[in-house]
Amino acid sequence: MNAPIAIVIHGGSGRLYKEEMPPEKEEAYKSALTAAVQEGYAILKEGGTAVAAVEASIRMLEDSPLFNAGKGAVFSSDGLNELDAAIMDGKTMKAGSVAGTRTIRNPITAARAVMEQSEHVMLTGAGADGFAAASGLQIVDPSYFKIEERWEQIQQLKQQEQASGKQSKYGTVGAVALDRSGSLAAGTSTGGMLNKKWGRIGDTPVIGAGTYANQISAVSCTGYGEFFIRYTVARDIAALMEYKNLSVEEASREVLFNKVTRAGGAGGVITLDVKGNMAALHSTEGMFWASMIKDNPCQVNVCNMIIE
Ligand code: ASP
Repeated sequence: MNAPIAIVIHGGSGRLYKEEMPPEKEEAYKSALTAAVQEGYAILKEGGTAVAAVEASIRMLEDSPLFNAGKGAVFSSDGLNELDAAIMDGKTMKAGSVAGTRTIRNPITAARAVMEQSEHVMLTGAGADGFAAASGLQIVDPSYFKIEERWEQIQQLKQQEQASGKQSKYGTVGAVALDRSGSLAAGTSTGGMLNKKWGRIGDTPVIGAGTYANQISAVSCTGYGEFFIRYTVARDIAALMEYKNLSVEEASREVLFNKVTRAGGAGGVITLDVKGNMAALHSTEGMFWASMIKDNPCQVNVCNMIIE
Protein backbone atom coordinates (compact mmCIF):
# COMPACT_ATOMS: atom_id res chain seq x y z
CA MET A 1 0.00 0.00 0.00
CA ASN A 2 1.18 3.50 -0.80
CA ALA A 3 -0.73 5.68 1.64
CA PRO A 4 -0.18 9.43 1.84
CA ILE A 5 2.39 10.29 4.50
CA ALA A 6 1.65 12.87 7.16
CA ILE A 7 2.93 14.13 10.47
CA VAL A 8 1.56 16.67 12.93
CA ILE A 9 3.37 17.76 16.06
CA HIS A 10 2.48 20.02 18.97
CA GLY A 11 4.57 21.95 21.44
CA GLY A 12 1.90 22.36 24.08
CA SER A 13 -1.20 24.46 24.59
CA GLY A 14 -1.64 27.40 26.90
CA ARG A 15 -0.59 31.00 26.77
CA LEU A 16 2.57 33.05 26.46
CA TYR A 17 2.68 36.75 27.22
CA LYS A 18 4.11 39.07 24.59
CA GLU A 19 6.67 40.54 27.00
CA GLU A 20 8.18 37.08 27.44
CA MET A 21 8.36 36.47 23.71
CA PRO A 22 10.87 38.74 21.96
CA PRO A 23 11.12 38.14 18.19
CA GLU A 24 14.30 36.02 18.61
CA LYS A 25 12.45 33.67 20.95
CA GLU A 26 9.49 33.42 18.59
CA GLU A 27 11.96 32.54 15.83
CA ALA A 28 13.56 29.93 18.08
CA TYR A 29 10.19 28.24 18.63
CA LYS A 30 9.47 28.33 14.90
CA SER A 31 12.77 26.77 13.99
CA ALA A 32 12.54 24.09 16.70
CA LEU A 33 9.07 23.07 15.54
CA THR A 34 10.09 23.18 11.88
CA ALA A 35 13.18 21.05 12.47
CA ALA A 36 11.19 18.51 14.51
CA VAL A 37 8.37 18.12 11.99
CA GLN A 38 10.87 17.87 9.12
CA GLU A 39 12.83 15.21 10.98
CA GLY A 40 9.74 13.00 11.34
CA TYR A 41 8.62 13.69 7.78
CA ALA A 42 12.02 12.72 6.35
CA ILE A 43 11.71 9.33 8.06
CA LEU A 44 8.25 8.80 6.58
CA LYS A 45 9.46 9.89 3.16
CA GLU A 46 12.21 7.27 3.25
CA GLY A 47 9.59 4.62 4.02
CA GLY A 48 10.17 4.57 7.79
CA THR A 49 7.40 3.72 10.23
CA ALA A 50 4.99 6.10 11.91
CA VAL A 51 6.42 4.97 15.27
CA ALA A 52 9.96 5.92 14.20
CA ALA A 53 8.78 9.31 12.91
CA VAL A 54 6.87 10.10 16.11
CA GLU A 55 9.85 9.13 18.26
CA ALA A 56 12.33 11.15 16.17
CA SER A 57 10.24 14.34 16.18
CA ILE A 58 9.57 14.13 19.89
CA ARG A 59 13.24 13.45 20.71
CA MET A 60 14.19 16.70 19.00
CA LEU A 61 11.65 18.64 21.03
CA GLU A 62 12.79 16.87 24.22
CA ASP A 63 16.37 17.96 23.52
CA SER A 64 15.30 21.59 23.15
CA PRO A 65 15.15 23.67 26.34
CA LEU A 66 12.16 25.55 24.91
CA PHE A 67 9.54 22.91 25.65
CA ASN A 68 8.21 21.34 28.82
CA ALA A 69 9.56 17.90 27.96
CA GLY A 70 12.99 16.33 28.33
CA LYS A 71 15.64 19.05 28.77
CA GLY A 72 13.13 21.87 29.39
CA ALA A 73 10.83 20.01 31.80
CA VAL A 74 9.15 22.11 34.49
CA PHE A 75 9.88 21.68 38.20
CA SER A 76 7.71 19.95 40.73
CA SER A 77 6.95 21.61 44.05
CA ASP A 78 9.91 19.69 45.52
CA GLY A 79 12.24 21.22 42.93
CA LEU A 80 12.51 18.01 40.91
CA ASN A 81 12.02 17.24 37.23
CA GLU A 82 9.75 14.21 36.86
CA LEU A 83 9.12 13.29 33.26
CA ASP A 84 6.31 11.34 31.58
CA ALA A 85 5.99 10.01 28.02
CA ALA A 86 3.96 7.52 26.00
CA ILE A 87 3.89 6.08 22.50
CA MET A 88 1.34 3.89 20.76
CA ASP A 89 1.55 1.94 17.51
CA GLY A 90 -1.89 1.91 15.89
CA LYS A 91 -0.97 -0.97 13.63
CA THR A 92 -0.17 -3.45 16.41
CA MET A 93 -2.13 -1.73 19.22
CA LYS A 94 1.01 -1.99 21.29
CA ALA A 95 1.85 0.84 23.64
CA GLY A 96 4.56 1.86 26.08
CA SER A 97 4.89 4.58 28.65
CA VAL A 98 7.10 5.86 31.45
CA ALA A 99 6.02 8.14 34.27
CA GLY A 100 7.82 10.13 36.94
CA THR A 101 11.29 9.43 35.53
CA ARG A 102 14.24 11.53 36.68
CA THR A 103 17.31 10.41 34.74
CA ILE A 104 16.20 9.37 31.26
CA ARG A 105 17.39 11.91 28.72
CA ASN A 106 14.68 11.01 26.17
CA PRO A 107 11.57 9.62 27.85
CA ILE A 108 9.89 8.99 24.47
CA THR A 109 12.66 6.54 23.58
CA ALA A 110 12.17 4.81 26.92
CA ALA A 111 8.42 4.59 26.21
CA ARG A 112 9.21 2.98 22.87
CA ALA A 113 11.59 0.53 24.57
CA VAL A 114 8.84 -0.40 27.07
CA MET A 115 6.53 -1.05 24.10
CA GLU A 116 9.01 -3.05 22.05
CA GLN A 117 11.30 -4.69 24.57
CA SER A 118 9.18 -5.41 27.63
CA GLU A 119 5.96 -7.27 28.30
CA HIS A 120 4.54 -4.21 30.06
CA VAL A 121 2.81 -1.01 29.04
CA MET A 122 3.66 1.43 31.82
CA LEU A 123 6.69 1.76 34.08
CA THR A 124 7.07 4.39 36.79
CA GLY A 125 9.70 6.19 38.83
CA ALA A 126 12.92 4.44 39.76
CA GLY A 127 11.73 1.28 38.01
CA ALA A 128 11.41 3.15 34.70
CA ASP A 129 14.82 4.78 35.22
CA GLY A 130 16.33 1.36 35.94
CA PHE A 131 14.69 -0.22 32.91
CA ALA A 132 16.03 2.54 30.66
CA ALA A 133 19.55 2.11 32.04
CA ALA A 134 19.36 -1.66 31.62
CA SER A 135 18.14 -1.16 28.03
CA GLY A 136 21.22 0.93 27.24
CA LEU A 137 19.38 4.23 26.84
CA GLN A 138 21.05 7.50 27.56
CA ILE A 139 20.98 8.27 31.28
CA VAL A 140 21.76 11.74 32.62
CA ASP A 141 22.32 13.31 35.99
CA PRO A 142 19.08 15.01 37.16
CA SER A 143 20.94 18.36 36.96
CA TYR A 144 20.77 18.00 33.15
CA PHE A 145 17.13 19.12 33.40
CA LYS A 146 17.83 22.15 35.56
CA ILE A 147 17.22 25.10 33.27
CA GLU A 148 17.52 28.53 34.83
CA GLU A 149 14.34 29.89 33.25
CA ARG A 150 12.27 26.96 34.54
CA TRP A 151 13.88 27.22 37.98
CA GLU A 152 12.96 30.92 38.17
CA GLN A 153 9.45 30.02 37.02
CA ILE A 154 8.88 27.73 40.01
CA GLN A 155 10.50 30.19 42.45
CA GLN A 156 8.25 32.96 41.20
CA LEU A 157 5.19 30.77 41.35
CA LYS A 158 5.99 29.82 44.91
CA GLN A 159 6.38 33.46 45.89
CA GLN A 160 3.19 34.58 44.23
CA GLU A 161 1.24 31.36 44.64
CA GLN A 162 -2.32 32.18 43.62
CA ALA A 163 -1.54 35.93 43.78
CA SER A 164 -1.37 36.50 40.05
CA GLY A 165 -3.24 34.71 37.32
CA LYS A 166 -0.62 35.89 34.80
CA GLN A 167 1.45 32.75 34.61
CA SER A 168 2.53 31.43 31.25
CA LYS A 169 1.76 27.78 30.66
CA TYR A 170 2.88 25.78 27.66
CA GLY A 171 5.28 23.24 26.37
CA THR A 172 4.25 19.57 26.50
CA VAL A 173 5.16 17.99 23.15
CA GLY A 174 3.47 15.37 20.99
CA ALA A 175 3.32 13.89 17.51
CA VAL A 176 0.96 11.84 15.35
CA ALA A 177 2.12 10.27 12.10
CA LEU A 178 0.88 8.22 9.16
CA ASP A 179 3.37 6.11 7.21
CA ARG A 180 3.39 4.75 3.66
CA SER A 181 1.98 1.42 4.76
CA GLY A 182 -1.07 3.22 6.14
CA SER A 183 -0.10 2.76 9.81
CA LEU A 184 -0.64 5.43 12.42
CA ALA A 185 1.22 6.19 15.65
CA ALA A 186 0.95 8.73 18.44
CA GLY A 187 3.36 9.91 21.13
CA THR A 188 3.46 12.57 23.85
CA SER A 189 6.16 13.72 26.28
CA THR A 190 6.03 16.17 29.18
CA GLY A 191 7.48 17.41 32.44
CA GLY A 192 3.85 17.56 33.64
CA MET A 193 2.27 20.47 35.43
CA LEU A 194 4.49 23.11 36.97
CA ASN A 195 4.57 22.81 40.80
CA LYS A 196 3.04 19.31 40.78
CA LYS A 197 3.07 17.51 44.12
CA TRP A 198 3.07 14.04 45.61
CA GLY A 199 4.24 12.15 42.56
CA ARG A 200 1.37 13.49 40.47
CA ILE A 201 1.10 11.88 37.03
CA GLY A 202 -0.93 13.53 34.29
CA ASP A 203 -2.66 12.29 31.16
CA THR A 204 0.42 12.14 28.93
CA PRO A 205 1.61 8.62 29.82
CA VAL A 206 -1.91 7.25 30.32
CA ILE A 207 -2.89 5.37 27.18
CA GLY A 208 -6.33 6.53 26.05
CA ALA A 209 -6.10 9.79 28.00
CA GLY A 210 -3.24 11.87 26.54
CA THR A 211 -2.04 9.45 23.88
CA TYR A 212 -3.79 6.90 21.65
CA ALA A 213 -3.57 5.34 18.18
CA ASN A 214 -5.38 2.58 16.34
CA GLN A 215 -5.87 1.70 12.68
CA ILE A 216 -8.23 4.63 12.14
CA SER A 217 -6.73 7.55 14.03
CA ALA A 218 -3.86 8.83 16.16
CA VAL A 219 -4.26 11.42 18.90
CA SER A 220 -1.87 13.37 21.16
CA CYS A 221 -3.16 15.77 23.80
CA THR A 222 -1.90 18.64 25.90
CA GLY A 223 -3.59 20.55 28.67
CA TYR A 224 -4.97 20.14 32.16
CA GLY A 225 -4.20 16.46 32.51
CA GLU A 226 -6.70 15.56 35.19
CA PHE A 227 -9.56 16.40 32.82
CA PHE A 228 -7.96 14.48 29.97
CA ILE A 229 -7.70 11.41 32.19
CA ARG A 230 -11.28 11.60 33.45
CA TYR A 231 -12.72 12.15 29.99
CA THR A 232 -10.37 9.60 28.35
CA VAL A 233 -9.92 12.24 25.68
CA ALA A 234 -7.61 10.52 23.18
CA ARG A 235 -9.59 7.27 23.18
CA ASP A 236 -12.93 9.07 23.08
CA ILE A 237 -11.88 10.97 19.95
CA ALA A 238 -10.74 7.69 18.37
CA ALA A 239 -13.96 5.95 19.43
CA LEU A 240 -16.16 8.62 17.84
CA MET A 241 -14.27 8.13 14.59
CA GLU A 242 -14.42 4.35 14.87
CA TYR A 243 -18.02 3.84 15.96
CA LYS A 244 -19.75 6.96 14.71
CA ASN A 245 -17.70 7.71 11.63
CA LEU A 246 -17.05 11.26 12.73
CA SER A 247 -14.29 13.15 10.92
CA VAL A 248 -11.02 14.07 12.72
CA GLU A 249 -12.30 17.60 13.12
CA GLU A 250 -15.78 16.63 14.35
CA ALA A 251 -14.52 14.02 16.80
CA SER A 252 -11.78 16.25 18.20
CA ARG A 253 -14.14 19.19 18.53
CA GLU A 254 -16.83 17.14 20.25
CA VAL A 255 -14.52 15.80 22.96
CA LEU A 256 -12.38 18.89 23.49
CA PHE A 257 -15.16 21.45 23.52
CA ASN A 258 -18.31 19.58 24.51
CA LYS A 259 -16.69 17.43 27.19
CA VAL A 260 -13.40 18.87 28.48
CA THR A 261 -14.14 22.57 28.15
CA ARG A 262 -17.67 22.24 29.49
CA ALA A 263 -16.31 20.39 32.50
CA GLY A 264 -13.92 23.29 33.18
CA GLY A 265 -10.74 21.82 31.64
CA ALA A 266 -8.63 23.37 28.92
CA GLY A 267 -6.03 22.16 26.47
CA GLY A 268 -5.44 21.05 22.92
CA VAL A 269 -5.34 17.99 20.69
CA ILE A 270 -3.77 16.94 17.42
CA THR A 271 -5.54 14.19 15.52
CA LEU A 272 -4.69 12.43 12.27
CA ASP A 273 -6.66 9.85 10.30
CA VAL A 274 -5.63 7.14 7.90
CA LYS A 275 -6.22 9.37 4.86
CA GLY A 276 -3.95 12.12 6.21
CA ASN A 277 -6.77 14.40 7.38
CA MET A 278 -5.76 16.34 10.46
CA ALA A 279 -7.17 18.49 13.24
CA ALA A 280 -5.20 20.75 15.58
CA LEU A 281 -7.60 22.31 18.08
CA HIS A 282 -7.18 24.12 21.37
CA SER A 283 -9.52 25.59 23.95
CA THR A 284 -6.66 27.54 25.54
CA GLU A 285 -5.45 30.86 24.13
CA GLY A 286 -3.07 29.02 21.85
CA MET A 287 -1.16 25.91 20.91
CA PHE A 288 2.21 25.49 19.23
CA TRP A 289 1.86 23.06 16.36
CA ALA A 290 3.32 22.18 12.98
CA SER A 291 2.38 19.81 10.19
CA MET A 292 3.63 18.24 6.98
CA ILE A 293 0.75 16.56 5.21
CA LYS A 294 1.25 14.68 1.95
CA ASP A 295 3.27 16.98 -0.31
CA ASN A 296 1.89 20.20 1.13
CA PRO A 297 4.33 22.78 2.45
CA CYS A 298 5.26 22.70 6.11
CA GLN A 299 2.88 24.68 8.33
CA VAL A 300 4.12 26.10 11.62
CA ASN A 301 1.88 27.86 14.14
CA VAL A 302 3.52 29.86 16.88
CA CYS A 303 1.86 33.27 16.87
CA ASN A 304 -1.45 32.01 18.21
CA MET A 305 0.24 31.30 21.56
CA ILE A 306 1.32 34.87 22.16
CA ILE A 307 -1.07 37.25 23.85
CA GLU A 308 -0.71 40.98 24.53
N1 ASP B 1 -1.08 17.35 29.97
C1 ASP B 1 0.11 17.60 30.74
C2 ASP B 1 -0.10 17.09 32.15
O1 ASP B 1 -1.17 17.29 32.68
C3 ASP B 1 0.52 19.02 30.80
C4 ASP B 1 0.40 19.82 29.52
O2 ASP B 1 0.03 19.30 28.48
O3 ASP B 1 0.70 21.03 29.55
O4 ASP B 1 0.82 16.58 32.73
